[in-house]
Amino acid sequence: EAKQAGRNRIHLFDLALEQEMTQRTLQLGQIEHAFVAGELALYYQPKVNMRSGLVFGAEALLRWLHPERGVVAPGEFLPIIEHHALECKIGYWVIEQGLSQLNAWQQAGLTISVSVNVSANLLQMSDFVNRLSELLAKYPAVQPQSLELEILENSALQDLNRIVSVIRACQQLGVCFSVDDFGTGYSSLTYLRRLPAETLKIDQSFVRDILLDRDDLAIVQGVIALAQAFHRKVIAEGVETIEIGEVLLDLGCDLAQGYGIARPMPAALLPNWVRHWTPHPCWRGRQ
Ligand code: C2E
Ligand code: MG
Ligand code: MG
Ligand code: MG
Repeated sequence: EAKQAGRNRIHLFDLALEQEMTQRTLQLGQIEHAFVAGELALYYQPKVNMRSGLVFGAEALLRWLHPERGVVAPGEFLPIIEHHALECKIGYWVIEQGLSQLNAWQQAGLTISVSVNVSANLLQMSDFVNRLSELLAKYPAVQPQSLELEILENSALQDLNRIVSVIRACQQLGVCFSVDDFGTGYSSLTYLRRLPAETLKIDQSFVRDILLDRDDLAIVQGVIALAQAFHRKVIAEGVETIEIGEVLLDLGCDLAQGYGIARPMPAALLPNWVRHWTPHPCWRGRQ
């Protein structure tokens, strides 16, 4: 009897696994179709220097403009394509889109930098530096310095030596780097020591509650001090209110990004947002 139940369980498990795989294949097909049909788009979220009041740049964030589901967030489809050929296809497309947008904005007289998210998997592809260099060559009017790559540690950066040499090679091309979601990865401090990225991005999970949570405040304070000690720039993400921005300014963090400044928006809306942006009076004029 027990044996019988065991066999059934295994059978059920196989079935569930099979269903899961079928489901994934189906979803992959849908995402690939969306990509080919041009349903993927980049939204842009401003990054501002609270001290000077200047708009520093914008982060490109992937969206799936689904004909029925509406705007789908990247967390709902990027995990599905991880380690699949689509991850690289879309990854390179994102970089190219960012560059072409930068080109268009520069031609329109908008001086702004653009950052794009790059998964560790993409960064570790053997052709990454070449592809990046080809893409930059396609937009000769764009200064490579105005492109920043945000490194995502979605899977561990297995070969840190390799990553470091890839980053250096890209920096030779003029491109800048930031370590995204800093503080959440299990080896953040190793990354800080080893990765030659110019900027650290404090993860929003630490920033969100700094007004309520002393521990979070201490972490943010610590990260800012670390960044300064290592001569890195530091930006806070998840700045949801003016008050959070004020505390961050007092802690010595001058770049910020979050709903309290602006939500991610379609590219077409950004120039107008920049034109109308005025920093909150309690941010401006602090030295
Ligand atoms: P991320 O790079 O850390 O981007 C910040 C995320 O926080 C974005 O979510 C943004 O919309 C959200 N956010 C910004 N300000 C606030 C705020 O004040 N409050 C709250 N609650 N959230 C805020 P989004 O667009 O859903 O992206 C999620 C993640 O997906 C990104 O996190 C990034 O890891 C990944 N991602 C987005 N676009 C791409 C892409 O083109 N390629 C890759 N590989 N990953 C991407
Ligand atoms: Mg990012
Ligand atoms: Mg981030
Ligand atoms: Mg984040």
